[in-house]
Amino acid sequence: MEPLCVVPARRALVLVIADKADVLHENGHRFRSERLDLRAPSVVRLRRYVRTPYRHRAALSRRGVFIRDEHTCQYCGRSAENVDHVLPRSRGGAHEWENVVASCRRCNSRKKDRTPEEAGMALSRAPFAPRPTFWLLVAVGGVQPDWDDYLRDALSTS
Ligand SMILES: [Zn+2]
Repeated sequence: MEPLCVVPARRALVLVIADKADVLHENGHRFRSERLDLRAPSVVRLRRYVRTPYRHRAALSRRGVFIRDEHTCQYCGRSAENVDHVLPRSRGGAHEWENVVASCRRCNSRKKDRTPEEAGMALSRAPFAPRPTFWLLVAVGGVQPDWDDYLRDALSTS
């Protein structure tokens, strides 16, 4: 199994009712109508295997960089507000995961259009592209406890 996407519970329930998915976890909520009383699923597994040829790389976003770097300046460890291009864009640096880090305003303005070496600043770790399913975390901003087992690989950063 691999995580595919996050959908509203109502949509997951429709898949279950249509026999297209099985419930692995419920979240304790219920959908009630006059004739139906259904427990809301929290994790469902599709019955048919779905190929996911898309998104070999998580899309780069400002929010994603902050989550990957834990909102911490990668130069000094303070709270980060900026995204810094390690090799500045003005010098051909790419706008990609491996060349962007979260940084605080101070470090960002101190570094200017220089490389970390030129500025005498050290990165706490080399920036990296997160695993493809990292976007799940970015999309929902957080993870329900009963998703942990299914997302462990997706969310690890090593
Ligand atoms: Zn800093």
